[in-house]
Amino acid sequence: MSASAIRFDFDNSYARELEGFYVPWKGAEVPAPAMLRFNAGLAAELGLDARALDSGVGAAVLAGALAADGSEPLAMAYAGHQFGGFSPQLGDGRALLIGEVLDRHGRRRDIHLKGSGRTPFSRGGDGKAVLGPVLREYLVGEAMHALGIPTTRALAAVTTGERIDRDGPKPGAVLARVAASHLRIGTFQFFAARGETDKVRQLADYAIARHYPELTDDAERYLGLLERVCNAQAELIARWMLVGFVHGVMNTDNMTISGETIDYGPCAFIDTYDPAAVFSSIDRHGRYAYGNQPAIAQWNLARLAETLLPLIDDDQDEAARRAIEVLNGFAAVHRQAWLAGMRAKLGLARALPEDAELVEDLLAAMAGQKVDFTRLFRALSDVIRGEVAGARELFHDAAAIDPWLARYRQRGALEDGAAHQRAAAMERVNPLYIPRNHKVEEALAAALDGDMAPFDRLVERLSRPFDAQSGAEAYAFGAPSEFGCYTTYCGT
Ligand code: AMP
Ligand code: MG
Repeated sequence: MSASAIRFDFDNSYARELEGFYVPWKGAEVPAPAMLRFNAGLAAELGLDARALDSGVGAAVLAGALAADGSEPLAMAYAGHQFGGFSPQLGDGRALLIGEVLDRHGRRRDIHLKGSGRTPFSRGGDGKAVLGPVLREYLVGEAMHALGIPTTRALAAVTTGERIDRDGPKPGAVLARVAASHLRIGTFQFFAARGETDKVRQLADYAIARHYPELTDDAERYLGLLERVCNAQAELIARWMLVGFVHGVMNTDNMTISGETIDYGPCAFIDTYDPAAVFSSIDRHGRYAYGNQPAIAQWNLARLAETLLPLIDDDQDEAARRAIEVLNGFAAVHRQAWLAGMRAKLGLARALPEDAELVEDLLAAMAGQKVDFTRLFRALSDVIRGEVAGARELFHDAAAIDPWLARYRQRGALEDGAAHQRAAAMERVNPLYIPRNHKVEEALAAALDGDMAPFDRLVERLSRPFDAQSGAEAYAFGAPSEFGCYTTYCGT
């Protein structure tokens, strides 16, 4: 087999500029690589030859078993705080960056494989990934993208023909994923923990050039970098909150410098509104609960700030003072992004001081009522159109929402647009379809049985989350009660 049929036009800045930040490495050979799902739309956006890549040779390349021309596969070094405890050495234990391309818009994108075999960072792990979690990341990542949320994306899911032992044999797979970069807070922590300040500076300069180039000539660029990352993450987490997304494993190695969502493991969407919602089996204390995500993001950013202190000011007390000032700005930026998003969800184009209370009171009214978060916001467009019943009946006790609905209609009277236009605008931000947990499980179970049809249907529904699709009613509802409490597992 030859990989020369597949052209990537790689331009590998990480390999070129950051020697010592990674280990050049090769993917493992696999018995029978086969393309299971290929994202032709994304391939086109990346300027790749989709026809050539969606092939047996393409599968071998995207499994990591075969290197394409110009590829410089490498395993990146990083550290991370996992559930609050610091691990000085994590790194790509089962992943490889195979190269970078400039996409059709001139944006630099990493092409990265997850599940491509052991690396020097594997520790006790086997370096592999299995089909269920690979398809889960594909599905949820693409759904997040369609929801307009910054995220890594899925280029392909490849099966390897291997059986991997995970509580019994499971089909092996590799996810080919695309990201603005794989720089994580943990990447900075790796070098900071070793006292390698020059390397932290080199990394910061690289991150600035790649993600925040407007800072390049700024005398305060390292403080500026911290501020940009804080803002990007504050806005990202607001977006998560607005759609009810729970990441589930917000360790510092799973938080990007670019502001993209990364590493879909035990993530899930809430059906009913509950700030304490936790799905991951290993998150026993609710550290990464739905309502905790903003505070955790800020905690993680404080860890990034610590790595940058030596670059911010020679006087470390002064550096800390300035970094803390930036970190303290996180809450306000997050709150503002969240409130702006909530206003849009409520169809309020004007910003009035009392809106915050209106939103808080809606959430308070929802708490304890087992109200479906996604459906309620969708039903509010009908309220604007004069039909209140749909929203009321989502409440266990319909009367509990009546005072709020009265206030909402009074507030709506202060808006300018025609009701139907306002309702339509709301339906462009309030999704009808999100990856409902029971639908995700159903699709993955069928896929593991060799039937990809439910997966494909779900991907299709979720690619247009705001448009009512005929025959898709079942995708717009939460899990039936017999589905029970939902638990997710880290997909290692
Ligand atoms: P994750 O939970 O996927 O964010 O991974 C956390 C760390 O564990 C990273 O350093 C991974 O590379 C590593 N890791 C996870 N699964 C495996 C595996 N099967 N083999 C080797 N390393 C792994
Ligand atoms: Mg990770």
